[in-house]
Amino acid sequence: LSDRLGGVFDRLTKQGALTEDDVTAAMREVRVALLEADVSLSVARNFVKAVTQKATGSAVTKSITPGQQVVKIVHDELIKVLQGEGAPDQLRIDNPPAPILMVGLQGSGKTTTTAKLAKRLKDREKKRVLMASLDTNRPAAMEQLAILGQQVGVDTLPIVPGENAVQIAKRAKQQATLGGYDVYMLDTAGRLHIDEVLMDEVQAVRDVANPRETLLVVDGLTGQDAVNVASEFDEKVGVSGVVLTRMDGDGRGGAALSMRAVTGKPIRFVGVGEKMDAIEVFDASRVAGRILGMGDIVALVEKAQEVLEVEQAERMMKRFQKGMFNMNDLRNQLEQMLKMGGMQSIMGMMPGMGKMAKQAEAAGFDDKAIKRQIALINSMTKKERANPDLLQASRKKRIAAGAGMEVSELNKLLKMQKQMADTMKKLGKMGKGGMLKQAMR
Ligand code: GDP
Ligand code: MG
Repeated sequence: LSDRLGGVFDRLTKQGALTEDDVTAAMREVRVALLEADVSLSVARNFVKAVTQKATGSAVTKSITPGQQVVKIVHDELIKVLQGEGAPDQLRIDNPPAPILMVGLQGSGKTTTTAKLAKRLKDREKKRVLMASLDTNRPAAMEQLAILGQQVGVDTLPIVPGENAVQIAKRAKQQATLGGYDVYMLDTAGRLHIDEVLMDEVQAVRDVANPRETLLVVDGLTGQDAVNVASEFDEKVGVSGVVLTRMDGDGRGGAALSMRAVTGKPIRFVGVGEKMDAIEVFDASRVAGRILGMGDIVALVEKAQEVLEVEQAERMMKRFQKGMFNMNDLRNQLEQMLKMGGMQSIMGMMPGMGKMAKQAEAAGFDDKAIKRQIALINSMTKKERANPDLLQASRKKRIAAGAGMEVSELNKLLKMQKQMADTMKKLGKMGKGGMLKQAMR
């Protein structure tokens, strides 16, 4: 979205306040972005209307551009629409055994999600969970749940051939009661499309189980259709929450917005993979960012940071060319290493440093070691940092003691600084525009 809005916003930035024309132009782009994210047409239209009202005439804060202001208004509104009431991961599972009914289309991820949630309840809330597959349509569906149950260490209702969904639900309830389970989860059969038979079956199961939670599982990659699915299920069965699956893919999550807007039901969890722990509590701001493609903006900020680092590197390079590399430079490097997570990333980029980087790594150059070295440098006076040649025995003792370390450790640090200073000097002699400069690019 930010890409697309770039042109519009460039124009916006040249003015002081949000006029109606500005907003209209920007909103046209917002609407396209929403549709591209698979938000349903009517939802996109209503959303844009609400944002337009908010944005038009709103005073533009001095510190940000009108363009940024529009993005913020859109972003905030998205979060508002996406955010349900209460904590999404608080399932109503008091009064054991609490039934949880899982519904949704075939292939939406019901069975997978059932097992994921059961594992979560077991691991995090120490609940005893029983899972039952009510899917009598697909031949291997019941076995699928049994296998997942074994994987995550959750009991499944034994399979009795020939039973229908309602009979299985009754048996699950009975077993859950007798077996002292806290929760029992009913994994229903899906269809490729919504049909009467499916709805009748789910209704009958609901009437038997009286579920505390009815979770609608929806494939996050499906767009427009999600709205129909959600409103149909909600109307016929009553839904208490939504689980969006496949949010690990490149779907933008427009389904989430559509479903929230249409059903008003909270999104509780998102599935982010096929593994049994690939489930997360729904986070509205994250999905809002995804719908807006805010990744672009994040990338921008990162780029800005990079530029800052390049500037710093260039300043350093000038010093190095003069053969200057004192403890301040070393501390700088060490801090960068901590930030970038590795010796090689920095030193490996400099000519002649590759070998040292390897040595350093072999010497156990980990975060802890780097932090100790920084502590040593911090223990020096300003003068000493600028001119490490000052460090004679008594000063060394004081510095090491100040950092709570041995003098031998300080000696190692000094050796390292000297080596680096020497290398820098040599590289500096290669002249301006020499290897060092190239390496810094
Ligand atoms: P059901 O027919 O609704 O029971 O769907 P299943 O639970 O059998 O899931 C269908 C397929 O989708 C399986 O291959 C799952 O591994 C996969 N799946 C489910 N949830 C996710 C998810 O969050 N991410 C990804 N990548 N795959 C998922
Ligand atoms: Mg299934």
